[in-house]
Amino acid sequence: MKQSDVIICGGAVIGSAIAWNLSQIAPGLSVTVIERDPGFRHSSTALSASGIRQQFSDPLNVAISRFGVEFIKGAKRRWGVDLNLREQGYLYLANTDSGADILRQNHAVQRREGADTALLSPGEIKARFDHLNVDDLTLGSLGLSGEGWFDAVGLMQGYQGDSGARRIRGEVAGLRLQQGKVQAVQLASGEEIACGAFINAAGPRAADIALMAGIELPVEPRKRTNFTFDCAHPPAGDLPLMIDPGGVWLRPEGRHFLCACAPVDDPRVAPDDFEPRYREFEDIIWPALAARSPAFEAIKMQAMWAGHYAYNVLDQNAVTGAHPGISNFYFANGFSGHGVQQAPAIGRGMAELLALGGYKTLDLSKLGYERILRGEPLLERCVI
Ligand SMILES: Cc1cc2nc3c(=O)[nH]c(=O)nc-3n(C[C@H](O)[C@H](O)[C@H](O)COP(=O)(O)OP(=O)(O)OC[C@H]3O[C@@H](n4cnc5c(N)ncnc54)[C@H](O)[C@@H]3O)c2cc1C
Repeated sequence: MKQSDVIICGGAVIGSAIAWNLSQIAPGLSVTVIERDPGFRHSSTALSASGIRQQFSDPLNVAISRFGVEFIKGAKRRWGVDLNLREQGYLYLANTDSGADILRQNHAVQRREGADTALLSPGEIKARFDHLNVDDLTLGSLGLSGEGWFDAVGLMQGYQGDSGARRIRGEVAGLRLQQGKVQAVQLASGEEIACGAFINAAGPRAADIALMAGIELPVEPRKRTNFTFDCAHPPAGDLPLMIDPGGVWLRPEGRHFLCACAPVDDPRVAPDDFEPRYREFEDIIWPALAARSPAFEAIKMQAMWAGHYAYNVLDQNAVTGAHPGISNFYFANGFSGHGVQQAPAIGRGMAELLALGGYKTLDLSKLGYERILRGEPLLERCVI
């Protein structure tokens, strides 16, 4: 039987980030990445909006993204690849007093963590972004640097390029456990590979993989549809990613705009259902954007696609680290809407945990599976 020190199920941005960091920290380890869709056509990574922001309410999420943005900036030096980071910021808008209070509280956390964010009155928002209707607004919060969007597929490919990991095209179909440990990974082809440690990086299919070890993981595929549109008279200047109080967001994408919303009904979907939900554009997004700016009254949709969040039903936050009982089963799951930006820090942390026996760069322990067992959510107010 073949053998590998570490087997990673899923080779998109998270699995590849872990493999690459293992190659940096522990080059002697043999690492195998098993991927069922090597073109990554249906991976969340390839279908994402590729945003990175420091505007979270939990200090660890802020720190994770700050680590991520520095890593992305260093890609040119490290890999000779420009990940095309556009630091145009995120603009969160509030239209109630309670919404403004939340932005103020989040801002205090962000500043403590060193994030470059600023609160703006409606008048200050208008002064910066003249096309916006601010009459109903109570406050805004803008990222001044270290926030924006980048080439997420380029980041994944950078990690894949020089990790030295053995990559297998195949589907993990079962796990063989003995004495409370994963002994071997069974592929759909019938092949078995023995392992020292197993990492679940299967994105929206992560719960199926966990179940192979008898573990319940509250992560499910939830559909998100992204739309691009053309605008006859686009507002001038470098616009941020704007999040309207109702949850509709948009950002520039070349000469077009990219937008989406949180769906009204948000059921679990089948892992192979990628049918876009067109009505969200007509019924939710366009009316909200037209009310926010006359520039968006006349727009023409160009393209749409659906991807899946690996939605952590408990708290929409990542689950990382080892299972408390099956000690060589590791989670890197449940990233919901913020996994590409977290890949650098999670990849680093997971590699440290495996190779050095503990988190060194950032303490990720509060993302552990233990909170799932306790049913204690890790509150994050800034989820999109
Ligand atoms: C529409 C949309 C917009 C998003 N926007 C953002 C954003 O702006 N910023 C941000 O940070 N995040 C965003 N996200 C979230 C982000 O894309 C994900 O959190 C991130 O890509 C997760 O990466 P992953 O490697 O865990 O999962 P994935 O990219 O889904 O990769 C999992 C891989 O595992 C493989 N796999 C699954 N089961 C098996 C098996 N049995 N055997 C072998 N291989 C298997 C799959 O084929 C897949 O390639 C968005 C997501 C979506 C859908």
